[in-house]
Amino acid sequence: MPTRKPKRPGATRASPPTRSSAPLPPTRQMTIVAQDPGVRRHDGGILMAQVAVPAEDLIAGPTGYRVQVVDYDATERRFHGSHSLPAGEEDEPPAWAKGSDRIKDDFRFHAQNVYALVMRTLARFEFALGRRLSWSFPSHQLKIAPHGMVDANAFYSPGDEGLVFGYFAGQAGKPVYTSLSHDIVVHEATHALLDCLRERYMYASGPDQAAFHEGFADVVALLSVFSLPEVVEHLLQPRPSARGGAALISREAVTVEALSSSALFGLADQMGEEMEGVRGAPLRQSAGLPARKDILETREFQEAHRRGEVFVAGVLNAFIAAWAIRIRKLGTDDQKAYPIDAVVEEGADIAATLATLWIRALDYMPPVHLEFGDALSAALTADAELRPDDSRFELRAHLLREFARYGITPASNNGSGIWTPPPEGLRYDRVRFDSMRSDKDEVFRFIWDNRDKLRLREGAFTQVISVRPCTRVGPDGFVVRETVAEYYQVARLTPAELKSRNVVAPPDYLATLAASRQPRNGAGAGDDTQTPPDPTDDGDDVTPLYGGAVLIFDEYGRLKHWVHKDVFGERQTERLAYLWNEGFLVADGGAARFRPARFSTIHLRRAVDAHRRPAEGW
Ligand SMILES: [Zn+2]
Repeated sequence: MPTRKPKRPGATRASPPTRSSAPLPPTRQMTIVAQDPGVRRHDGGILMAQVAVPAEDLIAGPTGYRVQVVDYDATERRFHGSHSLPAGEEDEPPAWAKGSDRIKDDFRFHAQNVYALVMRTLARFEFALGRRLSWSFPSHQLKIAPHGMVDANAFYSPGDEGLVFGYFAGQAGKPVYTSLSHDIVVHEATHALLDCLRERYMYASGPDQAAFHEGFADVVALLSVFSLPEVVEHLLQPRPSARGGAALISREAVTVEALSSSALFGLADQMGEEMEGVRGAPLRQSAGLPARKDILETREFQEAHRRGEVFVAGVLNAFIAAWAIRIRKLGTDDQKAYPIDAVVEEGADIAATLATLWIRALDYMPPVHLEFGDALSAALTADAELRPDDSRFELRAHLLREFARYGITPASNNGSGIWTPPPEGLRYDRVRFDSMRSDKDEVFRFIWDNRDKLRLREGAFTQVISVRPCTRVGPDGFVVRETVAEYYQVARLTPAELKSRNVVAPPDYLATLAASRQPRNGAGAGDDTQTPPDPTDDGDDVTPLYGGAVLIFDEYGRLKHWVHKDVFGERQTERLAYLWNEGFLVADGGAARFRPARFSTIHLRRAVDAHRRPAEGW
C-alpha cells in the first residue's frame, strides 16, 4: 500500500501551507499520449495532448479521491513502487510534452497517463449526468494496475475493484503497454462507469445488452480521442511538405467520404499495429461496416463484439455526417477551401457533444434487458430534454438516419423516437415530493400507490434500487433538475408457473433443471454450523425472470418518463431461448441462475479473433 510521504517534492505547490482566500482552480492540465505511441507527428515524435482533469492534491501512487494507481505486476509478482506525479504541468519532464520515445518505458508517465484518462472520463460522466457517481463496489477509489499482467489484454474487474492493463512483447521484442492507449484506457473506465449506473447490464439478457456494454465503451473511447483538437488536426492537416503548412483545407477533403477516410480510417491506420490484437480494431471494423438493414439478424453479428460494432458504426457515421454539414456552413456554397482551425474546432466540438449525449442517455435506459432500440430512444429523449435546439449539429436526425441504415429503429415508435409520456391519472396525493428526491421507500410508495397504471406484476418481488437527484447543465447554461429512480421486479417461477404466464422455456433446459435438483431431506441434520438458507433458493425448479423500470421525475416531483420492461413480457420466451443456447443460463442444484458476462474473457476472445481476421482483408 502506498504510504503518505510528508515531504514530497512538488506536493506543497498544489497544497500551499498558507491559507489563501483565492479559490483553488477546479481543474489542472496533464500531458497524455493523444491516442497511442503508434500515432506520430510529422516530425516523428509521439502525438501528445494536454487534457483538463479535476484538480486535487495527490499522494504517491498516484492516489486521489477516486482513483488509486497500484503498479503491481501479478504475472511477475513485482511492485514497481508508488509514483509521485508532477504537481503541475510546468513540472513535467520536457520529454513528456515532446512525445519523446523515452516515455514508452517511463512508468511514472504511464501512471499519469492512466490516472489522467480515468479522471477525465469520470469527470465527463459526472458533468453529463449532473451528479456524483459512486463505483459499483463499496470503495471510493478505483484501483488501476498500469502494468498488471503479461497479456495482450486489459479488463475491468468489479471483484478486484479495478482496471488491469496488460503488456506484451511487440514485434521488435520491446514491450507494448496497453496503458499507453487512450482508447483502451477509456474503454475500460467506461465499463466501470456503466457498471455503477446499470449493474444488470453485466448479466446476460438478449444479444444486444452485452453488445451495448462493448459498443458503448468503444463509442465513449473513440469520441474521447476525437474530442482532442490535437488528434483531429493531426488527421486532417496535409503534410507541411505538400501544402507548406497551409491553414486551409480543400472542399474535396471535407466531404463525408473524405472525412471518413482521413479521420476514421486514418486513425485506425496509425494506431499501433501491435495493439490491433488487443482492441480488435473496432474503429476500422465499425467504420467499414456495410449498411445493411438485416445485419443484426446475421449469424456473424450475434457475437457481442461484432454486434457492438454495429452500434459504434451508427454513432461514428452520425459524427461524420454532422461534421461534414457543419463544415459546409462555415463558408458560402461555392467555397473552395475552409480554415483548418474552424474545421478542427467543429469536429472536436461535435465529438464532445455526442459523447455527452450518449452518457446522458444512460439515465433514460431501462435497468434490465436493454436493446439497441431502447438505447436510441433514450439518447433522443435525454438530448431533447437538455438540448431542445438541435439546429446547430442536428445530431438527433443524424443518429436516427444512420441507425436506420443498420436496421435499428427507436423502441418508441411515435415518429420522433422520444419516449412517450407516462400513463395519465397517476396519484401523487400520498407521497412527499421532498422525500421522493432521495428516499427509496417514498419512491416505492409512489409505485405502490400507482401499481395498476405502472403494471406492477403480482407474484414478482419489487425493489427500488436507486434514487438519484441530478442537476444537468445544457449549452448556454440551460439547467434541468430531475430525479432518476430505478426499480427491479424479480419473479422466480416453477415450470408450471412459467407456463401459466405464457413464458415458454426450452424443453431441454427444463429437463436439465429437473435433473439437477438435489435431495433436500435431512440435509444439514445434526450439523451445528448450519449456513443460512440461500434467499434465492425457493426449493423448487425455479427460473428467475427480471423486469423493472426507470422513473424520471421533474423538479416538481411529477413523473416525466417511465421506461419499462415487463417481468412477464412476451420477450421473455425469446430471451430464455437465447440465454440457454448461448450458455448463459445455468441449471444447478434445482435452480437456474444467469452467468454474468465476464469482460476479461470476451476481451481475450476478441484478441484471438482479431489475429484470425486480417485474412478477411480490410
Ligand atoms: Zn470491453
